[in-house]
Amino acid sequence: PTALLDVRDLHVAFRTREGVAKAVNGVSYSVNAGETLAVLGESGSGKSVTAQAITGILDTPPGFISKGEILFKGTDLLRMSGGERRKVRGAQMAMIFQDALSALNPVLNVGDQLGEMFVVHRGMSHKDARAKAVELMDRVRIPAARERVGQYPHQFSGGMRQRIMIAMAIALEPELIIADEPTTALDVTVQAQVMELLAELRRELGMGLILITHDLGVVADVADKIAVMYAGRIVETAPVHEIYRSPAHPYTKGLLESIPRLDQKGRQLYAIKGLPPSLLRIPPGCAFHPRCPLARQVCRTDEPPLYEVGPGRRSACHFWKECLVERTDSSGA
Ligand code: SF4
Ligand code: MG
Repeated sequence: PTALLDVRDLHVAFRTREGVAKAVNGVSYSVNAGETLAVLGESGSGKSVTAQAITGILDTPPGFISKGEILFKGTDLLRMSGGERRKVRGAQMAMIFQDALSALNPVLNVGDQLGEMFVVHRGMSHKDARAKAVELMDRVRIPAARERVGQYPHQFSGGMRQRIMIAMAIALEPELIIADEPTTALDVTVQAQVMELLAELRRELGMGLILITHDLGVVADVADKIAVMYAGRIVETAPVHEIYRSPAHPYTKGLLESIPRLDQKGRQLYAIKGLPPSLLRIPPGCAFHPRCPLARQVCRTDEPPLYEVGPGRRSACHFWKECLVERTDSSGA
């Protein structure tokens, strides 16, 4: 079956005053209808830039796609006419950002902002669009939707504003939603509620969901599979539960060990030493080698391919076998 979205060997670069920054260097991933892919990485890993290339925000310089394909239901978005591409991106894809306050219009009440989608794209009357706005607010479980539909973004809490963003994203029932750090600005309890809402809507509407995050802790319960990015490349892909149990890349392992665990109070948090590289000067060989506890000579010279580790599992580490050890759980389970 054809994947809903199939990104193949994508390369994206930016022209800067100091040279060309290679933000995305051969990324491939796919998402099926009804499936959630979590894309994980630190800032500067290329996870957001990949999403921007999919949704078309990079269409103008200085960011440019130098190579690759972005197949949406089998057709390459990069080879469609401008009009076709806008149609797909306008109605069949939607994006949710971290910062709802700046993504929403501060001088329009939320009813008008939600309703506008239906007026513009569905030719509805303002009265019908208002009713749709209330329906959407109910759907994302904003209490007292009918009373609050005339309020402005600043009158809602951060979590409620993010629900409004989600309502905007699902308004036209897109087939794919890309959420870029949708809960990063929220406190932990609210994060979990918003994630759960996204997962529920994804199930109800049968959408594909790409969840971009730097936080492995928030995706365990909602994602089907994970792609871990580093320096513009995918370094590991796996079904979500396998990656938690047995990471096959030292970078993933470091990220996992940085998640605070309630059952291991007082345990020193492992933070991966050093910083991600500048995209102007990506280290040769394995880009992670300056920070990697397992690095050897070959890592400095030979770029690791994505080795097949198991069904649906790949790792870009020459020494993935050494890395692939069961994490021992203190529960002994
Ligand atoms: Fe570390 Fe070498 Fe594996 Fe890269 S290839 S992650 S440097 S062990
Ligand atoms: Mg980002």
